[in-house]
Parts: sequence; C-alpha cells; structure tokens
Amino acid sequence: MSQLSYKSYFRPEIDAMQGYVPGEQPKMQRLIKLNTNENPYPPSEKVLQALKDLDMKRLRLYPDPLADDLCSMIAERWGLSRNMVIAANGSDDLLTMVFRAFTSEKLAVSFLEPTYSLYKILAQMQHAEVRKIALEGDNFAMPSNILEQAAGSNLLIITRPNAPTGNSFAKSMMREICEKFDGVVLIDEAYADFAEDNCIDLVKEYSNVIVSRTFSKSYSLAGMRLGYAVGDARLIDGLYKLKDSYNVDLVAQTAAKAAFADQENLEMNCVKIKETRAKLYEALTAMKFAIVPSETNFLFAAPPDGDGEGYFNALREEAIIVRYFPGERTGKYVRITIGLPEEMEKLLKVTKKRYFS
Ligand SMILES: *Cc1c(COP(=O)(O)O)cnc(C)c1O
Repeated sequence: MSQLSYKSYFRPEIDAMQGYVPGEQPKMQRLIKLNTNENPYPPSEKVLQALKDLDMKRLRLYPDPLADDLCSMIAERWGLSRNMVIAANGSDDLLTMVFRAFTSEKLAVSFLEPTYSLYKILAQMQHAEVRKIALEGDNFAMPSNILEQAAGSNLLIITRPNAPTGNSFAKSMMREICEKFDGVVLIDEAYADFAEDNCIDLVKEYSNVIVSRTFSKSYSLAGMRLGYAVGDARLIDGLYKLKDSYNVDLVAQTAAKAAFADQENLEMNCVKIKETRAKLYEALTAMKFAIVPSETNFLFAAPPDGDGEGYFNALREEAIIVRYFPGERTGKYVRITIGLPEEMEKLLKVTKKRYFS
C-alpha cells in the first residue's frame, strides 16, 4: 500500500487508546527527582555482589521460565505453597496478565478513582467496561457501598495503599470485600512495605484474591523490572497459562533472590523513608498544606492556595521534579516522592520561599 493511502489496520480500541504516559525520566543533571516513587537508597550490597558474581556467559542460555528459586523463597516468606506464587517482569507485567485473564468485552472491571492510571489503559486494550469507584472526601476514603458499585464486574482492583493518594483502607473492609465480592479481587500492594499492615494473609482464606507486589519501590530495583503475585493456586495456575514464557530474565532473577534474602536491608530503608515522610508531613502541615495521611513512600499534598500546577511549576524551576495530576480533585495536589533528607530540606526551602516571602 502506498504511503499516501495509509489506512489503519489496528483494532479500533487500540486506535482509540491514548497509551500510558509514564512519569518523565528527565535527562537534566543535578536534579532532585521525586516524581516516580523510586527509592532514594541504592539496592542492598548483597544484590550488587550477586550481580558481580553472576557468570555472564550464562546469558547464552534461557533463564528458568518459572523463576522457581525466587518463587520458593517468596512462598516460604509468606507461609504459602509454591503453587500460590508467580513472578513477573515488573508488577505492570502481572497487571497485564490479570487483565487478559479476567476482563473482556463481556467482563467488566472496577477500580478506584483516583488510582494508578495504567489500569484504564489495560482495560481499553481488553475492550472491557470500566466502573470507577470514586473515593470520598478530602482523605480519599473508600465508599461504604463499594460492593454495590462493583457488583457485576468480574475484576475489582483495590490499590492498598492507594496511589497517587497514599492512604490505606481498613483491613476489616478488605476482608468484607473479599468475602462478598463475586469476582476476582486484585489487591495491588506496590507500597505495602511502607504501610502498617498488608493483605497477604487474605489469599489463604479466600479463593478469589490475588495480591501483587513489586521490587521497584521498597527494594530499590525499579530499573530491574520485577514483580510477583500470590493467590489461590487455581488463580495463579491460570496466570501461568498466559504469561510470556521467559518473562523474568536471568539478571533480574539473580538480583531479586539476593534482594529478597536481605529483609534486614529492606526494613532499614523503609524505616528511614517513613521517618523522612513523618518529618516532611509535619513541615508541610505547618505551612498549611493539606496532606492525605500516607502509608507509602510519597505524600499527596495540596499547597495552601490549592494550585497544584503552580506549585509543581515553581518546584520545577528549581530543578525539583514532582508529579502533577490534572483534574478537578487531583489538580489541587502534587505527589511528592520521599527522597533523601537533604532533598526534602531543599524542597522545603523552595516551598517556604514561594508561600512565605
Ligand atoms: C509502581 C506501581 C506499579 C508498577 O510497578 P512495577 O513493578 O515497576 O511495574 C504497580 N502498581 C502501582 C500502584 C504502582 O504504584
């Protein structure tokens, strides 16, 4: 076909899609990067050592397609059997599998509003109907009628703690949702290592629950692309059918095993980040910011004038990059990743100058 008469052969839903817009990864030097919830601390020394020790000649061979050693470690850590665990190329890869497995033109999906923006894109790819469950009030609380709102959909995603808002939801409510929802409940626990509790135990009690995790945030391995999910063996077994054959590469499996074995380092970094989070919360609250209580490695914070975009731009001029989400409710806020203490000091200095001078 000639170039002049271009005609799209894409499925109509793909043509209609916008495509996911990731947080920017700017090339500027000496920038304070607080926009994609990466960890400010390097990965565990043990990860770096394991990668140095890896025999690179082995890259000639395919990796273990099931990432068996890693999945066994994960199963043991959470008191699950091996067949309740699946590893993935980032938790985004898992989300893709889950959408392929449980949504279609006939099978709708429900998720929170606001929440992680990738879900919407994955739903579009499946041509699946989306039911948005609006979070309520200034603290983005779970609506008490969530079960009524989600009724009829085949998949319900609860991001806990939620992004970009940072808050969590009562465990008792999670239990009730898992008990009563007639469909699969995916609990996206990308930030659970920074939270007060988690829902992994629910997969032992309920056959319709999947919990997903990532190494990108708490384990400081965003560049490595690793995630995993746990759930009832029958659910996990179905996901294995649709995963890419070798979805976790050799280098990633090596790094993940070393990272997962070093729970002490994980704990130490999470404690530091939570301390920095508490201090930043206090300092911004003192400057009249409205902040959603956070159980993550970021704060969703509204400046005193409610102009999230203006604040985002002011920070950007000082080479501090945070994330801004346009929209009637979210536009009042910016999302600030918890960085190093000195990075938070710089942010506070710029903030003070903008609002108090
Ligand atoms: C970061 C994030 C993910 C994706 O994690 P990757 O493992 O890096 O793909 C999934 N869900 C939520 C809510 C996230 O914030």
